[in-house]
Amino acid sequence: MSDGEILVIGGGIGGLTAALAIARSGRAVRVLERAPEFAEIGAGLQLAPNATRLLDRLGVLDACVEAGVLPERLVFNDALTGARLTHLDLGEDFRRRYGGPYVVMHRSDLLRILVEACRTHGVALENGREVDEVTTEPGGVTVTCADGSRHTGVLAVAADGLRSGVRGRLSDDQPIDSGYVAYRGTIPMDEVTGPISLSEVVVWFGPGLHLVQYPLRSGRLLNQVAVFRSPGFAAGDPDWGNPDELDAAFSVTCEPVRRALPSLWRNNRWPMYDREPLDNWLTGRTVLLGDAAHPMLQYLAQGACQAIEDGVSLADSLDRHLTDAAPDAVSVDKALHAYQDERIPRTSHIQRTARVWGDMWHIDGVGALLRNEVFTGRAVDDYRHVDPIYGA
Ligand code: FAD
Repeated sequence: MSDGEILVIGGGIGGLTAALAIARSGRAVRVLERAPEFAEIGAGLQLAPNATRLLDRLGVLDACVEAGVLPERLVFNDALTGARLTHLDLGEDFRRRYGGPYVVMHRSDLLRILVEACRTHGVALENGREVDEVTTEPGGVTVTCADGSRHTGVLAVAADGLRSGVRGRLSDDQPIDSGYVAYRGTIPMDEVTGPISLSEVVVWFGPGLHLVQYPLRSGRLLNQVAVFRSPGFAAGDPDWGNPDELDAAFSVTCEPVRRALPSLWRNNRWPMYDREPLDNWLTGRTVLLGDAAHPMLQYLAQGACQAIEDGVSLADSLDRHLTDAAPDAVSVDKALHAYQDERIPRTSHIQRTARVWGDMWHIDGVGALLRNEVFTGRAVDDYRHVDPIYGA
């Protein structure tokens, strides 16, 4: 019954990267996205070299670099005192060490670049296709959408995000609400008040909060993300994380941090969720990818990077195991198992590490003093803590 296509459910960064990587091997791919167009929120994204060297392999890194910024440093400051604690050098040595640059870019630019590259490689891109059901049948899968359309393929990739419907077939777990909430915002650089570096990603951390700032679009835009622990969440307030809480949480911070607050978007906020790692991403001929498989807290800026790694890993595994246009069930099973065997240990580790980094950023009291002491004492070219993430 299979018509040889690989069906990708969800056209976010994960789904589109997977579609592109698979199509580049000459396979037929169809992306089914429920939204009326392929779109991302208008905020920034950090891409570490573990992702950028794969974007290079997929032929889209130059376009990403052109649309984005190559920061020279990742800086860590104390949000209360304003003191600079340490930085990670992102220059030439860093790029040589990891085989790719650190890029910061507008999410919608990355999505546009991926969509264009998918088109170039013949991926069928469909919007307004909300997937309702996936059934495994002899020889393939059938995907049924809310509009009644049916699509058949060799296998399905569920890249349908944090609240993945497909994941619900594998596990009854739910997203875990960390009680932290993010406010985002981008503003034209010429509207920014006070000094701002055009060559740095700056993280300011303090008790139960942090702010991240970096330039986008060749320095024409400033991206800002403010995150804090909501007291209302702990108290069961249905309106937890509201803008009044934002202002109260950041009222204790130094002036350069407080200056960021008026330019954040106040009509939207993003509660921070993750999930426990799963030990299986596979049901029949359908496999999870990206946030559907391993949603993580964003403190390592690795959610999208890991989704990009997933896409390339899956394409490589299909190349190794599927040599036929209509492969048998055993080969499909081998390919999908090889993919999840490669990816689950790594993404589980990063999901867990992100939680620890969040704790370290948000610690108070003696813990904060000790953290600052360790951060202040480290060499700026000491890459020990990021080697396992950027280097693998
Ligand atoms: P999604 O982006 O959620 O895409 C899922 C897609 O599936 C959507 O387009 C959705 O419409 C579609 N869909 C859902 N259900 C269906 C259905 N039934 N049928 C059809 N389509 C469906 N990561 C980084 O690497 N670097 C960062 O700097 C970074 N910063 C972050 C900052 C914040 C504040 C947050 C919250 C996250 C951050 N992340 C970062 C994480 C990153 O944004 C996500 O990990 C990544 O976008 C996940 O991509 P995805 O394609 O797996 O899922």
